[in-house]
Amino acid sequence: MRILIANDDGIYSPGLAALARVAAEFGEVLIVAPDVEQSSMGHAITHSRPLSYRHSPLLAPFDAYRVNGTPADCVALGAFMWGHVDLVLSGINLGPNIGHGIWHSGTLAAAKQAALLGLRGIAFSTPTGRTEPDFAVLEPWVARVLDLLVAQPELHLVNVNLPPDPKGICWTSVSVRHYDGIVSPIDDPYGRRLHWLAVKPLEGTEPGTDRWAMQQGQVSVTPLRLDLTDHAALARVQRESPLDAPGMARGADAVDETEG
Ligand code: MN
Repeated sequence: MRILIANDDGIYSPGLAALARVAAEFGEVLIVAPDVEQSSMGHAITHSRPLSYRHSPLLAPFDAYRVNGTPADCVALGAFMWGHVDLVLSGINLGPNIGHGIWHSGTLAAAKQAALLGLRGIAFSTPTGRTEPDFAVLEPWVARVLDLLVAQPELHLVNVNLPPDPKGICWTSVSVRHYDGIVSPIDDPYGRRLHWLAVKPLEGTEPGTDRWAMQQGQVSVTPLRLDLTDHAALARVQRESPLDAPGMARGADAVDETEG
């Protein structure tokens, strides 16, 4: 199995090295990752300038390349460079990617780019506190998750979050509770006003969601899909407010086309 590894924390993140160590138990590994941190870049791609890459011998024994681009760029370029890729892994991100946070995630975007290319993508994330994650504790759990997911080839895009000291693994959905974005003003040393964008932690969780699993100390494994269509809303507006070409937007058929 040929496994392409990317991340959004940059090629020298200890999370990427941990993921590569586990992936090497499952197949041949190629690392193609951003040369600097690209967290919260979402699914941006670079289209206004060419990309370049350089070999990174510090990641030996792994074959590794650093790219002056985004996480999604790295997967697109890596898949092109390597020709045949069986699986794309992203992470292990230093910081969780759960709930609505996945909209901003560069870690998940790298896995999502794999799904866009018709490949399989799996994103891994773990919280960070004042100390680095204990990857020696997490690596056997990453291996367990890969054992589980390699045997489920119909899952094209999966988001995995690991608590600091996992007690088990569970299947989850995305927490869709809203959070309030915090805009926090500060002044720089010259008295100029600057702003931090941050997220307000939520109280309470919905059982069965990614946020809930993490609070329970469980590894959260969420199957995702690329189709953002609100099929219930589409069926309702087609019924209640039919437009000019009623045969054009067939909800059920659209699902088949986008899921395939
Ligand atoms: Mn990150």
